[in-house]
Amino acid sequence: MTADRLDGALVAQQIQRELRAELEELLRRGVRPGLGALLVGDDPASAIYVKSKARRCEELGLHHETRRLAASATTQEVLEAVDDMNRRPEIHGILVQLPLPGQVDARRVLEQVRPEKDVDGFHPENVGRLVQKRPRFVPCTPAGVMQLLARSGVELAGRRAVVLGRSEIVGKPMALLLLHADATVTVCHSRTRELAAVTREADVLIAAIGRAGMVRAEHVRPGAVVVDVGINRVSDPALARELVEPARFAEFERRGYALVGDVHAPEVAQVAGALTPVPGGVGPLTIAMLMSNTLRAAASAA
Ligand code: NAP
Repeated sequence: MTADRLDGALVAQQIQRELRAELEELLRRGVRPGLGALLVGDDPASAIYVKSKARRCEELGLHHETRRLAASATTQEVLEAVDDMNRRPEIHGILVQLPLPGQVDARRVLEQVRPEKDVDGFHPENVGRLVQKRPRFVPCTPAGVMQLLARSGVELAGRRAVVLGRSEIVGKPMALLLLHADATVTVCHSRTRELAAVTREADVLIAAIGRAGMVRAEHVRPGAVVVDVGINRVSDPALARELVEPARFAEFERRGYALVGDVHAPEVAQVAGALTPVPGGVGPLTIAMLMSNTLRAAASAA
C-alpha cells in the first residue's frame, strides 16, 4: 500500500482563487488590504519566509511592506515599530516574523500588536477567543491544516487525533481546532512516554516537532491520515539519501541541503492511508491562510 498524497499546494491554489474574488469585492468598496511585516535581525530562513509572503501578497494584489530592524534592536525599538503599524490605516494585518533575537521580549512584542491586526493569531486576546471557540484570527499553520483536512474529505468528528508537539504557534492551536471539530484529541511532547504506542492510536496524526524524519512506520496506525508540519533543513548526505525523494536528490546536491518534514516519508507512505508531502504540503497553506486573515482584517476595518 502507498499512502494517498494530500496535496497542500493544490488546496492553497484553490483558496487563493476564492480570495481573489473576495479581494475584488473589497477593491470595489475602495479597500486595498495591506500586510506589514516586521523582520528583526538577519536570520536567513526568516528572510526567506518574509520574502515568500511578500511575493504572495504581490501575486494576489495586496499592499505589503517589510520593516527591517537590526539584529541588535531593543525591545523598545521593536515595540515602536509595531506601534507605527498599529496606527497606520493602510496596514490591516501585522506579521512579526519569529524568532526574534534573544534580547527582545517576544511576548511583549506580540501583545503590542492590536488584536484587530493580529493576523497570526498570537495575541493573548485572540488565543483566548480561540479557546472559547469564538475565534477572530486563527494561527495560520493549524488553520491551513484544518482547511486541508476539510477539503480532502477527512472526517474528524468522533475520531482519534494525536498532535505531536505543543508549541504556541502550531501544536496547541492545532489541538484546539481538532477538539472543536469534535475529534478526541491527545497532545504529545518531548516528555511523553511510549510515544509510538500513543501515536499509533491516531486516525489523524499531526507531526509538528522540528525533528527530521522522526515519525517512523512504528508510530503510525495502518490507514491513518498523517499531516507533516515539519520543515527541517538537512545537509547530511546520508540522511538526505534516506529522506529526500530520488526526484529531488539532484536539487540537494546542487544546493547542499534539502527541506524535509518530521515524518520519515518513504517508510510512513507504506503504512499511512494519506500523507502530506514536504515541501508542497502544509507550507503553502500557511501562507494562504495569512492572506485570508489579512483580507478578513481589512474587511472588518472597512
Ligand atoms: P517548537 O516550538 O520547537 O516545538 C516543538 C514541539 O515538539 C515541542 O512541543 C516539543 O516538546 C516537541 N518535541 C520536540 N522533540 C520531540 C520528541 N523527540 N518527541 C516528542 N516531542 C518532541 O516547534 P514549532 O514552532 O511548533 O515547529 C514545529 C515544526 O514545524 C518545525 O519543523 C517548524 O519548522 C515547522 N513549522 C512549519 C510551518 C509551516 O508553515 N509548514 C509553520 C510553523 C512551523 P516540548 O514542548 O516538551 O519541548
